[in-house]
Formats: sequence, structure tokens, C-alpha cells
Amino acid sequence: MAQSPPVESRIPALPTFSLGTAAGLPPRFPVDRMSPSETTPQATAVIPWIGVARAGLEARMTADGLSATHAQTLFRLLHRELMPDPLASPDALPPLRRWLEARGEGGRRGVDVASEIASADGLTRKYLLRLSDGQTIETVLMGFTGRHTACVSTQAGCAMGCVFCATGQMGFVRHLTAGEIVAQVHHVQSALRAAGQRDLRNLVLMGMGEPLNNYDAVMTALEILCDTCGVNLGPSRVTISTVGVVPGIRRMARERRPYPLAVSLHGSTDEERSALIPAGRRWPLTELLDACRDYTESTGHLIFVEWTLIAGRNDTEEHATRLGALLRGIPSHVNLIPLNPTQAFEGTATARDAAQTFQRVLREAGIPSTLRQRRGIDVAAGCGQLRSQTTTS
Ligand code: SF4
Repeated sequence: MAQSPPVESRIPALPTFSLGTAAGLPPRFPVDRMSPSETTPQATAVIPWIGVARAGLEARMTADGLSATHAQTLFRLLHRELMPDPLASPDALPPLRRWLEARGEGGRRGVDVASEIASADGLTRKYLLRLSDGQTIETVLMGFTGRHTACVSTQAGCAMGCVFCATGQMGFVRHLTAGEIVAQVHHVQSALRAAGQRDLRNLVLMGMGEPLNNYDAVMTALEILCDTCGVNLGPSRVTISTVGVVPGIRRMARERRPYPLAVSLHGSTDEERSALIPAGRRWPLTELLDACRDYTESTGHLIFVEWTLIAGRNDTEEHATRLGALLRGIPSHVNLIPLNPTQAFEGTATARDAAQTFQRVLREAGIPSTLRQRRGIDVAAGCGQLRSQTTTS
């Protein structure tokens, strides 16, 4: 008999708002414009203060002649108390009030719920959030025993074009600002608090978009979210997921960023991988795995290798043997994830017994792995699926 999930894992509902008209989507960017240093359209939505780190707020306020204490108060109200309007707090003293009023729009959270859907088991809740310029992005909250994990987006759409991904199928729209990334976490944190549940514990940047192509905004958002005066996420509980953007991985290694990294491989040869992930043509496996090795040596973290199991495409014993050989000598852990079906990709998920065989071969090669459950199929939990369904229906 199926066991009921623990009560604390269930995810509360928030009020829903009417769904607006989604903006049209431009085509994908070509594969050769994927470097994080290259210029792509900038965000037009502005959420001024929730996207500024505490040190930045202090610098701006002291430059305007205020004491740094007011910056600390504002940061706390925004990120610890999650106040959409800090002016409503009696803690905002007259100098801070005058400063906020003069600057305007300071505390706006900047996202509305366009649509919201919960899985039948109550463990996964997916939000389609509308930004101030009308773009919609997805945020997912997943309940596990005694803890919750949020999955947030870093771009509206995505340029990387992975064939099995609904976001890749829709193309790139724009980068999110640091404030828009933070706002997604505020949204789920508010939902948890409204239901009297524990604060968020884990964060994964695995929603819409390639985080390392929006490097600066992502790192600013994580600095804010890991600040002990705010949401206070532990850096080791924040996972950045990349399709394998080598310059971004090398930059993380150079800057010794404290966040675990998940790298999507999905193919054990360049040809196999590129057929699923066009980025594989830009950054071949040897180059990518070299960067991963550097990252593990510089940061002391292991690499999480993401492997979407697709029947007949990358799930045989031969594939597992090759993967084991590729990862030899690289501190890593493989996450095996059965494919989430999407409209424009005809592949199907690997059967359970074949997935277990794949895992056994990896184990024999000395590579640890976890066979992940598919979560939230009934809420279109694969990234981009809810937005796709919403904009095409
Ligand atoms: S899997 Fe990630 S990187 Fe690939 S298209 Fe989807 S969102 Fe972009």
C-alpha cells in the first residue's frame, strides 16, 4: 500500500491570479553564441532593491549620507521578513523612508502568479510567475521528508536548444535580473511560511535557462540568498546546473565559488551528446571534463553528473561503461533521471529494470549514482513544460 507523504512535505496553495497574455517568443540563438561573456538581450524588468546585495545597499545609502544601519534594516525587511513593501514596517525609520520614497519602487517583489498547479500527491507545486514586463517563468517547489527544495529559473526561455527540453524548444527571450531570481525564492518561502512550514532548505538552479550564461546575475542572486541576514541558504545547499558551458565552469573554479555544480552529460560520445545537446558541438567532452576536473580541484566539491535516461538513446550497458570510463578520476556522483516527456521530442523514458542495470554497471566501474524518481509528471514539472502548455493551449 502506498504510504501517505509526511504532513510537513505537503506544499500549501497560494492565491492564484488570472492568466495574462504571454508575449511572443523569438527564435533560438545559434549555438555559436553561447558564451557567458557574449551579449544577449538584457532584462527590461527592473526590481531595484531585492536584486542588490547587502554590501551594495550599504554603499549606495552611505553615499547618500545615510548610516549603513538603514541598509541593514532594508535588507532584513526584504529578505528575512519578506516584506513586499518595507515602507509598511515601523522598523523603517524616517531617513530610510525618505530615501525609499525618493528612490521609488524599492521594495516591489515584481512577480505575480499567472498559474499554479499541484501534483496529485501534494509533494510538488509548480508556479508560472509573470514578471513586470509580462514574461512568464517557472518555479517549482518540491517537498521531501522534513525539507523543501525550490527549483528556479535564470532566464526566460533558453538558447541552448536541448532537444528533449520544453524550454529549449521554445527559444531564448532574455536573461532574468538578480532580483527576478531572488523573487522566485521569496515567493516559495512566503508560501511555506503561510502554511506554517519550515523555511526552504535547498535550492537548485535547474529551471528555465542556462545559469552560466547569465553568470553575474546568478552570482549576485546567490550572494543575496546565502546572506545570513536574509534567506540564509547554506551555499552547499545551492546547486547550479549547467548544460556544460565551459567558460562558466572555469570561471566558477577560478573564483572558487562555494556552490555545488551539476553538469548535464546525457551522452557518452560527442556525437551522441550533441544530438541531444547542441552545446556539445561547442564544448566537446574532453574540454568539458577537463573543466570539471579543474572545478573539483579548485573548490573541493564533487561534480553531479546529470544523465537523462532515454530508451534506446543513451541507456544501454555500453553507454554506462563508456560513462564510467569518462568519469574515472573525477570526483563525481551521477544522477540518473528518467526522461520527462515533452511535446516536440519523441523519446521515451527508460524502463526501471534497464535503469537499474545502467546503475549496476556504473557501480562496478566505481562511480556512485542515484536513480531519481520522476517528480511532478502531472504538473508538467520538466522545465518549460507548464509555460509551453499554457502558451499553446
Ligand atoms: S535543458 Fe536547460 S540548458 Fe537545455 S534547453 Fe533546457 S533549460 Fe536550456
